[in-house]
Amino acid sequence: MRLLIVEDEADIAQMLGQFFSDRGYEVMIAEDGARALELAQRRVDIILLDVGLPDEDGFCICRRIRDFVGCPIVFLTARVEEEDKLRGFAYGGDDYVTKPFSLAELEARVGAHLRREERGRSSANVRFLGKLSIDYAARRVYAGDVCIPLARKEFDIVELLSQNAEQVFSRERIYERVWGWDAEGDSGVVAEHIRRIRRKLAAQGEEARIATVWGCGYQWKR
Ligand code: CA
Repeated sequence: MRLLIVEDEADIAQMLGQFFSDRGYEVMIAEDGARALELAQRRVDIILLDVGLPDEDGFCICRRIRDFVGCPIVFLTARVEEEDKLRGFAYGGDDYVTKPFSLAELEARVGAHLRREERGRSSANVRFLGKLSIDYAARRVYAGDVCIPLARKEFDIVELLSQNAEQVFSRERIYERVWGWDAEGDSGVVAEHIRRIRRKLAAQGEEARIATVWGCGYQWKR
């Protein structure tokens, strides 16, 4: 299991890193938010996220990570205000551990989240298409071992098209399905998103996955 620790206090980060790697976890450590966003692009199973970071606060980082990562996120914080907790959950966090915490409790919580995740995954569907795999529960797309970082709407489009492979969707239909009926804006944004998805897929040698059917729309190729 791969654990990402986001913590600016070097001694705490090191202590946690040592503790979890002794227990068989593969540990990555980020000392600030920018590095966390970078490391979260890789395959990560769970994230421990300090709220007080030097560059940006953990809540904002959480929200940004949530755009492309579905794994559990546990906040580590000295703050105990209820308002902060609610804010953390609203930003996509799954749990809260207040400092000072007991390592045994933290380990138990991490284990519980991972088991829950595992249960969800075994019942969820993962679709394999050549070297691409799409994990619909975790909302992630992999090319072999490499995670392709997709923003939320980009994944929504991939989900819609890939679950209806070979079916042609017009821009308008994609817009309605992904952005919703009452979204403000227009379907032009769909083309921009498709361009971005294609660029990311192409970087992994999967450029032909989404076809343009001239005058009609887009189609996911098996
Ligand atoms: Ca801190």
